[in-house]
Formats: sequence, structure tokens, C-alpha cells
Amino acid sequence: MIVGMFLALDQGTTSSRALVFDRDGGVVGRGQCEFEQHFPAPGWVEHEPGDIVESQLAAARAAIGMAGQPAIAAVGITNQRETVVVWDRANGRPVHRAIVWQDRRTAGVLGGLAEHGELVRARTGLSLDPYFSAAKIAWILDRVDGARARAERGELAAGTVDSWLLWSLTGGEVFATDATNASRTCLFDLGSGDWSDELCAIFRVPRACLPEVRASAADFGTAVGSGWPLRAVLGDQQSALFGHGCIAAGDTKCTYGTGAFALTNAGGTRPETAPGVLATVAWRLGDATTFAQEGSVLVCGAAIQWLRDQLGIVQRADETEALARSVSDSGGIVFVPAFAGLGTPHWDPSARGAILGLTRGTTKAHLARAALEALALQVDDMLTAMGGERAELHVDGGAAGNGLLLELQAALLGAPVVRPALLEATAFGAFRMSLLGAEVCRDLAELPALPGDPTVVPPPSDLDVTELRERWAKALPRTRGWA
Ligand code: ADP
Repeated sequence: MIVGMFLALDQGTTSSRALVFDRDGGVVGRGQCEFEQHFPAPGWVEHEPGDIVESQLAAARAAIGMAGQPAIAAVGITNQRETVVVWDRANGRPVHRAIVWQDRRTAGVLGGLAEHGELVRARTGLSLDPYFSAAKIAWILDRVDGARARAERGELAAGTVDSWLLWSLTGGEVFATDATNASRTCLFDLGSGDWSDELCAIFRVPRACLPEVRASAADFGTAVGSGWPLRAVLGDQQSALFGHGCIAAGDTKCTYGTGAFALTNAGGTRPETAPGVLATVAWRLGDATTFAQEGSVLVCGAAIQWLRDQLGIVQRADETEALARSVSDSGGIVFVPAFAGLGTPHWDPSARGAILGLTRGTTKAHLARAALEALALQVDDMLTAMGGERAELHVDGGAAGNGLLLELQAALLGAPVVRPALLEATAFGAFRMSLLGAEVCRDLAELPALPGDPTVVPPPSDLDVTELRERWAKALPRTRGWA
């Protein structure tokens, strides 16, 4: 008999969220707490590690309060990936602020490691990019007085956000991570399923400071004070894949947030990936690893924010839908929102945004439409690079609330797009995983599905994507090599 509810902690980049679920996946409480972003230099992004923990606890308290203070049967943690924290094992104090996944400060160091690019890709499935954790850890060890020597003596702990949360919640009892988070560090060998001494040497990260790698559903200890049983950990994109129920090889989800991330379940063997597409751990259950292919679009909902905040053509992001629907096409313009370069499959940091084909007749409605077309076209390019046939695409994230975007995506895909009633697929994935970790469910077939009826958007018959694709293909090369 299970007593109590299930708490999903979703530690994101700009806010921490918490949802309380009943045994069947119904949401009975939710909380959210934003925290400060630090930008100490151009291209640098940091978080105060204490803020990560405090905001997460505040969100959890709000969610549990809304649920009526139930007993918590199990906690599942999902988190922003690649971000690193280094702290002192003796007193739990961070030696530096967290360096966030978006931070580009290690680009120069990685340039010097270019000769190892092939090996890194072969071992980890990742590319040599500042996005990943290893070089960020080394940066802290090099810049903080005495840190490297102390890390080598095993006095410091270095980990991704999940490890930091686990350590903080358990009062230093547990220093662990799960295989999905480990697979984003550039230090984890997809073949052996553990840290690689070879990669630790290349990136100059002492293995002595790294956490133990566990399965995604496992005993991660008990939270001090609250007594919460911590039973699942997985990275946010993997959690969304699991939350959508994408458990069969070929199942794909795309999350449309600030950026867009697509993951395709690749089954039990490591996938061969095309250039610009990553291989990663989808989850580990017991000793069995499920893999995924992953692609990233750097600017997705952020392009809509730009229309709102920089151009002021809408007051709210969701107004772009009605505005874009007020015209039947983009009036021949193409908007490439390559504000931060291009991601999958191009990985071109020198690309910059452009709006092409402007005439005296161009209106803000055309621009809004071109923006939504661009979001769909970027995701389409990413899915094409990832290969494979898709019978449907599962979607979530803030911009997935936009019906026109989903119609455009379905038209490009030539298959339905499925949006769950509960858009928080990420938190739902952590909840589902915690049911396995707490042994409430013994296998995947027993897990509850996302609650409510999903919205299924079939490809509209009146949208001609041939012309869209052609114009996009013409515009894209014009944005490259700019910066
Ligand atoms: P994140 O988790 O990355 O912060 P969210 O999943 O909360 O992002 O989604 C927020 C993003 O989605 C913002 O960039 C916002 O501009 C965009 N967005 C939200 N609602 C809509 C909408 N109806 N149409 C288009 N974009 C939207």
C-alpha cells in the first residue's frame, strides 16, 4: 500500500518548479520560484548554488501546501543539464558560482583540444562544445585558489545540478548522479556506462571529485528534515521524453521552450548519429541503458520573446498566433532567428539573425507568421538531420501552446503533432520515474500516461510547405559566417 503523493522537482534554468501528483498522475499541487541569473562577463552565465536549492525548496513547499500537506511517498528530480557546481565535501560550501550550460567561457580551452574531437564524439556521443560540463569544471579548478590540488586529494566534489541538489537535500549523505546527467558532461563513456579515465585526463578533471553514477530510478537517499524518499533523477530533456511515454525506439518528442530540443528514443544500442546530432543516454533502469538521439535549436520561443520585448509588436507571446493567422502567408519574407548562431544540424556559431524579402507591403502580421514558420522549419531541419520516419511528434514547452506553430509543424512533418493536456511533460517524466524508483510500479507498462485528452493536430490540407521549404533553404546560407 502506498501512502502519500509524489513530488516532482523540476530545477530549470530560470526557475525551479515543483508538482505534486497523485498515484495516477493527477496534478494536486504546483509551485514555481524564479531565481537570479548572473552575467559577470559577455558570454558568461552563472547561478548562485544556494539559490538553486532555496528556489527548489520554495517551489516544493508551495506545491505541497496547495496539495494540502500530504505525506510524500517518493520524489523524482529532473534538472537543467550540463550546469556544474563544485563544492567542499567537508562543509558543503560551493567554491564558485555554478557555471550554467549556456556559458561560453570555455570556448578557447576547447579550441586547444580540437585534436581530441573525434575521440570525444566516439566515447561520449557529444561534440567539443562549451555547452557540456567537463571544461567548466576544469575552469573552476584552475581559477579558484588551491582548488585543483584539493580536488585531486578528493576534498572537493564536482557535479551537475542533480548531484548538488541530492547532496544538499541529504545533508551530504549522498554524492551521486544518474546516467542521463552523467552523459552530458563529456566525461562519461557511453560504451562502459561510467566515467572515463581517458576523458578525465583530456579535460583535466580528477575522477576523485566526481559522483557515483546510478540508474535513473534508484535509491538516492532521504531528504534531511522532510524525510522525503528520493527515488529518481534524470536530465530535463530525457525526463520529457519519458514523461511523454516515448518508450519505443523511434518515438520522438520536441520541447519548444527558449530553445527547442528533440529527442528520439534509440532503444538499447547506442545510435549512429549524423554530424551535428548527439547520442545520449535516455535513461538507465537497473543495468539496462536506453539511448537517444538529440538535436538542439538554439533560439525557439526566444524569437517570440524578441518580437514582444525588442520590437513590441505583441504584448504577450500567445498573441502571435492571432496576428499570424490574420494573413494567409508571410508575404514572401523569411525570418531566420539565428541570434546565437545555428544549432543542429549546422552548428555554426558565426550565423546571425536575418529577415529577408522585406517590401513596402510587409506588416507585423507577416513578421509574426514568418517567426512561427521559422520555429517549425528549424525543428523540421533538426528532425530531418536526426533521420528516421515518424508516425507522430509529441510536443511540450511554452511555445507548444501555439496552435498555428503546431499546424505548421504537422504540415512539414507530414504526420500528426500530439500535445498533451498537461504541458509539463518534464515534471511528469520525473514523477513516472519515481514510481519505478519507489517500486510502486515494476515495469513501464504499469506507469500512468499523461492525464487528460491530448490535442492531436493533423497536417492541414491547405498548407503548401514546398514553397516554405524552398524559401527557407534560400535564406539560410545568407545568415552564415556573419559574426
Ligand atoms: P523555458 O522552460 O525554456 O523557460 P517555456 O517552456 O516556459 O521555456 O516556454 C517559454 C517560451 O515559449 C518563451 O520563449 C515564450 O516566448 C514562448 N511562448 C510561450 N507561449 C507562446 C505562444 N503561445 N506562442 C509562441 N511562443 C510562446
